[in-house]
Amino acid sequence: MPIRVLPPEVAAGIAAGEVIERPASVVKELVDNALDAGARSIAVELEQGGLARIRVSDDGSGIPPDELPLAFTRHATSKIASLTDLDALSTMGFRGEALASIAATARVRLSSRPADASGAAYLEMAGVSAGASGTEPAAPGTTVTVESLFASIPARLKFLRSVPAETSRVRAVVQRAAMAFPSVRLRLRADGRTLCESSGNGELRDVMAEVFDPRTAAALLAVAPSPRAPYAAHGFVSPPSMSRANRTGMHLFVNGRAISSRTLSVAVEEAYRGLLMEGRYPLAVLFLQVPPAEVDVNVHPNKREVRFVRDADAFSSVQRAVRETLVASEPVPEAPMLLSATAAAAPAPGSMFMSGLTVPGASGPLPEPGPVGIAERAVVYAPAQPSQQAGLPPLRVLGQVAGAYIAAEGPDGLYLIDQHAAHESVLYYRLLAAWVGGQGPAVQPLLEPLPLELSPQEQEAAEDAREELGRYGVSLEPFGQEAWLLRSLPALARRVDPRRLVAEALEAHQHPGSYPATHQAVAASIACHSAVRAGQVLSAEEMEALGRALVEEANPQHCPHGRPTTLRVSTVALAREFGRTG
Ligand code: ADP
Ligand code: MG
Repeated sequence: MPIRVLPPEVAAGIAAGEVIERPASVVKELVDNALDAGARSIAVELEQGGLARIRVSDDGSGIPPDELPLAFTRHATSKIASLTDLDALSTMGFRGEALASIAATARVRLSSRPADASGAAYLEMAGVSAGASGTEPAAPGTTVTVESLFASIPARLKFLRSVPAETSRVRAVVQRAAMAFPSVRLRLRADGRTLCESSGNGELRDVMAEVFDPRTAAALLAVAPSPRAPYAAHGFVSPPSMSRANRTGMHLFVNGRAISSRTLSVAVEEAYRGLLMEGRYPLAVLFLQVPPAEVDVNVHPNKREVRFVRDADAFSSVQRAVRETLVASEPVPEAPMLLSATAAAAPAPGSMFMSGLTVPGASGPLPEPGPVGIAERAVVYAPAQPSQQAGLPPLRVLGQVAGAYIAAEGPDGLYLIDQHAAHESVLYYRLLAAWVGGQGPAVQPLLEPLPLELSPQEQEAAEDAREELGRYGVSLEPFGQEAWLLRSLPALARRVDPRRLVAEALEAHQHPGSYPATHQAVAASIACHSAVRAGQVLSAEEMEALGRALVEEANPQHCPHGRPTTLRVSTVALAREFGRTG
């Protein structure tokens, strides 16, 4: 083919792809425009998750009738005039391409009345060119109606999720805007039902009560800017006692704009160092104020990413403000350095294990106590194959050490078993064996199905992972707009928090990490969640059963994360340490 300049509608459709990815991106751009127009009240309505129709109305400044066609022209904006204006940006928009992009991907009608006009002027777009126009009575402000999104771009349609999933992405957009602008009233209705609403009373806590729930919002700690930080960061974060299995509770804003930033989310997590268990994430609604010249928002057309001129300053401003809040709320426990200190002092590899014996085992945070019925579980377990090369010899359990380890005697010395790692390993390989066997593990149906509210990301993961989870006995099914129902759990996950188990399994499915397949990551997460914790007192029978199960296992030496389950102090090493060898 010779080189050709693409027809305008094709070029526009391609360019629009960067801005308009799904219904939520349309809503974000339209809400941004309403905020830029100084609206005090913004209403968003959806039909069919936005695929059939999206309507955003505001009571903002409106657009003069003669500028309507310009509003739809690419790179036409009232917000900046030159590149240097970007250094003093105070608006959400500036690229002048949102309306043009929406028009390239859907049918659009814009009706607008400036406060000083007697009525509204409307313009309908037919693709990239203007269609019908006229005047009509309306209240001051602007209403944009978007229909048949992506009807002409089948490639895009393929990437859309279910109506509930798209709806909850829109909800997330509206909620973020409501948090960034507590004095603007925002409302979202979907197919006639109000999904969320902020009062516009200026109280961020009230908005957060809507986004999280009233109890959570009330428990959040207020963050004030640190006097020692370069930039001001303020907002709210969760106390360490409150956390999630993923980052969906973190909302970050720079100069009032909702953004996703690795720098800032790591800064928040860093502030919780030593306060949260591994794999747990805090809730946060944080606003960082940076001089506009020191942050670039023009990194991506969707403006969700930013670049800081002084990245380290942005990082430390957030990290300090949050850390100071946490420290003020409760004293940070000093991390015991015993472990590494003893390890470093260990003179020879042979005596390492001995030194380990003097270390208090419960150095991590202790999880919820409570009896765990490993004994009953282990009894039902029939060994798949006798232990072979890598296997453990038969062990005689001696007792529990530091609430976390099982001491046992084997033919060639003393064995120390990490009860959590060992149980996790046993459960993991049992789940995998059931997966390979195709018949699934034993399942415990819930007496009543448990409704779960899932975040948009979790809903997508749930759609993807449903079958996989089902094979492990976690049966999930969609229920209504954004709820899902949990109907059963694997029988081996007896006394667990089902919500956390599902959240963590979904997270594992999305981020399998080093696991070659997502089903393995999911099995590891279910196993980890269901296993006994360090700090749980085990009965003699439970320890026996765990020891036996470990011995019978194919790969007993390591837990699914690769950590050792068992340490051995050989009788030879014991004799040497006690000076018995000549
Ligand atoms: P940008 O927001 O980057 O300027 P858009 O394509 O989103 O680009 O909008 C183009 C222009 O249309 C805006 O600069 C603004 O002047 C006008 N406009 C769009 N939406 C509204 C609205 N809801 N109220 C008032 N003016 C609007
Ligand atoms: Mg805009």
